[in-house]
Amino acid sequence: MADKEGFLKYKRQLPGSRSPEERKKDYKEIYKPLESKVLNEQAARCMDCGVPFCHNGCPLGNVIPDFNDAVYHKEWELAYQILRGTNNFPEFTGRICPAPCEASCVLGINKDPVAIELIEKSIAEKAYELNLVKPNIPEERTGKKVAVIGSGPSGLAAADQINQAGHEVTVFEKDKEVGGLLRYGIPDFKLEKWVIDRRVDVMNEEGVIFSKDTEVGFNIKAENILQNFDAVVLTTGAQHPRDLKINNRDAKGVHFAMEFLGRQNKVISGELESNPIHAKDKHVIVIGGGDTGSDCIGTSNRHGAASITQLELLPKPPQSRKTLNPWPEWPMTLRTSSSHEEGAERVWSVLTKEFTKDENGNVTGLTVVDIEWKEENGRMQFFEIEGTERTLPCDLAFLAIGYLGPKAGLLEAFGVEFLENGLPKSKNYQSSVPKVFLAGDMRRGQSLVVWAIAEGRECAVEVDKFLQGESSLARRDQSFYSYEEEVTQS
Ligand SMILES: Cc1cc2nc3c(=O)[nH]c(=O)nc-3n(C[C@H](O)[C@H](O)[C@H](O)COP(=O)(O)OP(=O)(O)OC[C@H]3O[C@@H](n4cnc5c(N)ncnc54)[C@H](O)[C@@H]3O)c2cc1C
Ligand code: SF4
Repeated sequence: MADKEGFLKYKRQLPGSRSPEERKKDYKEIYKPLESKVLNEQAARCMDCGVPFCHNGCPLGNVIPDFNDAVYHKEWELAYQILRGTNNFPEFTGRICPAPCEASCVLGINKDPVAIELIEKSIAEKAYELNLVKPNIPEERTGKKVAVIGSGPSGLAAADQINQAGHEVTVFEKDKEVGGLLRYGIPDFKLEKWVIDRRVDVMNEEGVIFSKDTEVGFNIKAENILQNFDAVVLTTGAQHPRDLKINNRDAKGVHFAMEFLGRQNKVISGELESNPIHAKDKHVIVIGGGDTGSDCIGTSNRHGAASITQLELLPKPPQSRKTLNPWPEWPMTLRTSSSHEEGAERVWSVLTKEFTKDENGNVTGLTVVDIEWKEENGRMQFFEIEGTERTLPCDLAFLAIGYLGPKAGLLEAFGVEFLENGLPKSKNYQSSVPKVFLAGDMRRGQSLVVWAIAEGRECAVEVDKFLQGESSLARRDQSFYSYEEEVTQS
């Protein structure tokens, strides 16, 4: 145990960030490094409880009290070994995970939880700094070949694990660079892209082959992949965006969030010269109160928008947990992201009615009405509030209202069967086509990076078993996943 009185002595402390005024001038990471003494104290706050609920909160089953103890004793190599044993990419999750582990930390019942995500990032960065992240080249090769289609976090995790099992892995990626939404969705101010390159370099040295700019189904046919590989893992994400079917949706200046965010990341990396969708001096409306919406706010602020308004259909969440949402459940409370801190008006319980446009087809406004949520016939329903209809000025609108599932085409090309909810059918990550496996957002629907990594790891075990009859790859205890399996496959 780190320090048995640590949680009484020290308060939760996170690293400071650059001021909103300063950070809005660039796309660089916003957090400052933390002094090592403070980090040591943060690790000391872990109580090493008899039943560490944080394990269960983390989809990867990260062994949190053990790495906290190692950090407290400054045993960085041990801390990294423990962390790497369950998480292929702690440098990603340590930066952008919403940290469900912290929501279930026992200390969080009546105090601020242990700063687990921060400690995870610090272990990963220290490991690179101390040259502990070395290529681990498999000693023996099995002679089996596996194709991983898609290089987001689930594809990368699956590739990393399957390669470690001794199979030859080729990752096919349609984009110019590897990383999926880590690279072409999540803004640089949340995750700078050198963090991905640094890890991909290690995987390359370990023998993973990356075939970039290769769209399967277009540059290479699915039949060729099936013929040339012993197993195939599809991890192409769930990037089919939900549309907003209201009047004048076709107005110029109304875009899906990803059309804006993906291009901005390409501008920063030099892949594109400029973003054709620009927010400078515009009245921007972001429809959707989630993470993607928040990323649109951060990017619009960096462009120099005249105003930014974020609209959400649901009511404003409470500041603290409600009685019916007790610990260790995920708290349904108000979240304020770093992008919100940089400036935006947030409006809850509001329904979008129609866009207005000028004679050239450019969007000029968005008509909205306030709504009231009431329980009727046993379920929550919303009702418009009379007299509240108004038109907000709008020169640019982003739709950030979720994703419907995988884009059409690829799964059909592999002959995979679907569930009624539009997601592909799978049992233990294996699709209805025996040599085709599925993982990540494509299998479970739009989710989180930590879930994508967890899916990639679990899928790798099933692929290894399919190829060799058994697998010695590490996996999370299966009771955790049986419920998830029911949820995603029903
Ligand atoms: C704007 C935004 C912000 C987000 N922020 C966060 C966050 O802060 N924290 C968090 O945990 N999660 C966040 N998420 C969610 C997270 O990014 C995803 O859950 C995660 O990336 C899913 O990983 P994946 O590997 O399943 O798929 P993806 O990351 O979608 O990767 C799929 C890959 O497949 C490739 N591909 C598709 N079709 C083909 C083909 N035919 N041939 C070859 N390659 C193909 C794609 O180009 C892509 O590279 C965010 C998502 C978005 C959209
Ligand atoms: S991956 Fe996410 S949930 Fe798991 S320990 Fe790290 S921050 Fe917590």
